Amino acid sequence: MADTKRDYYEVLGVEKGASDADIKKAYRQMAKKYHPDLNPGDKAAEEKFKEVGEAYEVLSDSEKRARYDQFGHAGVDPNFGAGGPGGSYNVDFGDLGDIFSSFFGGGFGGGGRANPNAPRRGSDLSKTVTLSFEEAAKGCSKDVEYNRIETCSQCSGSGAQPGTSPKTCTDCGGTGYVRVNQRTPFGVIQSQHACNTCQGTGKIVEHKCSKCSGMGKVRVKATRSVEFPAGVDEGQKVRVSGAGNQGSNGGTSGDLYVNVDIRPHHIFERQGYDVHMEQPITYGQAVFGADIEVPTLDGPVKIKVPAGTQPGDINRMQGKGIQRLNSRSKGDQYVHFTVVVPKSVTSEQRDLIMQLEKSMGTDVSKLNKKKNFFNK
Ligand SMILES: [Zn+2]
Ligand SMILES: [Zn+2]
Repeated sequence: MADTKRDYYEVLGVEKGASDADIKKAYRQMAKKYHPDLNPGDKAAEEKFKEVGEAYEVLSDSEKRARYDQFGHAGVDPNFGAGGPGGSYNVDFGDLGDIFSSFFGGGFGGGGRANPNAPRRGSDLSKTVTLSFEEAAKGCSKDVEYNRIETCSQCSGSGAQPGTSPKTCTDCGGTGYVRVNQRTPFGVIQSQHACNTCQGTGKIVEHKCSKCSGMGKVRVKATRSVEFPAGVDEGQKVRVSGAGNQGSNGGTSGDLYVNVDIRPHHIFERQGYDVHMEQPITYGQAVFGADIEVPTLDGPVKIKVPAGTQPGDINRMQGKGIQRLNSRSKGDQYVHFTVVVPKSVTSEQRDLIMQLEKSMGTDVSKLNKKKNFFNK
């Protein structure tokens, strides 16, 4: 069914190069428009809502978006790039650079490093996870899947096929570097370079391990359960110590940094630890006042609409916002009132409104003539 899917950019109604902020804004508008709560029983709206959610999930994740831009829907199919036979690991050629830099620490070129076989810490990794508005507000635990470089279990990192062992490099005598004498006008200068024959390891693998092709490292899919504290906000990172790439020669593992992204909510908007929402009320409720229920993160709560409420008036609900990180206090919820204006009226309603306007001393026919002025 992948080929019948609509283009994700088209679904959100944005340009291909749209910024993250534009994508988020477009998603918010679309999700609001098609949300099942606002379109009860409307199957078409429900489908659209799902489609919009799927498009946002991909376009809001820089990794997935890049894959989608390059390969289309196939690039973000969960089965894309899965492991070969057995599926337990996956040497991805696009990422060989990572494996090499993790293996060699990326530190060649200078005067030669001290010892290529010394323990080296693995590099850090980062992964973006999208939480729902509520998950971020209340905290949650999630299984995070990502790719990680680990020591090959078949050869224990030596790169040699089991039953064989690496030989000492004869070009460098196992030191991993060679001295080069260079004649210059100032005399002979001696410099050290990484040995080309053994890539600085001091060893030559003659029979390469079949699992890692002699690299001693494999890229595997890893899963970690990650705790997101209540109140975590967009752009914050949660560190999972030791979950990054495994080190070399017995060195410690790097860390995994999980970047938090928050899916916009169809009613609530977050500002720091405060929650803002729009609450439509009728003309009558605004004039006479009313007791109404508004949604909060902890369920519906009754509030008073005071008599004479104006559009844009705000009710501040203290402590109904989001849990502050590392604190027991909460932000507030701000309810912004809007007054619902009917889009069409029956002739009876029309007469009643005209009557009301007349009694209030407003000449409706004059207002109509000034329409263009007000619309400006
Ligand atoms: Zn191996
Ligand atoms: Zn060598």
